Amino acid sequence: MSLLVIIPAAGSGSRFGGPIPKQFQPLAGKPLVQYVVERFLLSGMVDRIVVAVTDALLTTVKQTPQDRVQFVAGGETRQQSVMKALEADSAECDVVAVHDAVRPFFRMSTFAALIAAAREHGAALPALPLTDTIHATRDGRLTATVDRSNLVAAQTPQCFRYEVLREALVRAQREKFDATDEAGLAAHYGYEVRVIPGDPFNIKITRQEDLELAEMHFAEWSQE
Ligand code: C5P
Repeated sequence: MSLLVIIPAAGSGSRFGGPIPKQFQPLAGKPLVQYVVERFLLSGMVDRIVVAVTDALLTTVKQTPQDRVQFVAGGETRQQSVMKALEADSAECDVVAVHDAVRPFFRMSTFAALIAAAREHGAALPALPLTDTIHATRDGRLTATVDRSNLVAAQTPQCFRYEVLREALVRAQREKFDATDEAGLAAHYGYEVRVIPGDPFNIKITRQEDLELAEMHFAEWSQE
């Protein structure tokens, strides 16, 4: 029984603005991705972590084969980065968790529930029901209101039995299918994906304002 965490962090982070991609912005004095890696290591549930980063960053990282945290070059899309990270880990593992580098506030209790659900059912993700009304728009005009009763917003970490994630990624690569997250990919290929209640504090740091909110919540969360 062992658990691998994959952190895709090879994006350019262009929506954030500025020269530093969002996953390397500082939170509590350290780059977000480092903060996330340390939280996983402290959880006591994780055996190894593979972080996919850009080629440029990879040249600056020092690593030895004994390290529990390995850095690899990412791919052209998030999905390709996850695939490269999975392929880079040669040891056996039964569960793989894929986590956004920019979600520093995942809860350990949720993570434990996701691992258990993935072991039992094959795949699981944390998600929240939508609270805002969702409209479709075109050219700046509202065209329709979407029924939100069955919609949820996906979060991470998303957990999978190794063979479920591997098979879904291999098929997607063969068929050139690109999904925006791995839970969606597994469901696309017919695997059961369990939805576990997510957490409003498990925010995805996408804009400058999110980082300010994150700093405000940091003191509280670091004591979890
Ligand atoms: O841009 P978006 O928020 O969808 O990216 C999701 C995650 O995937 C980010 O953490 C980003 O760094 C990562 N990513 C990656 N390789 C890419 C593109 C995005 O690891 N080629």
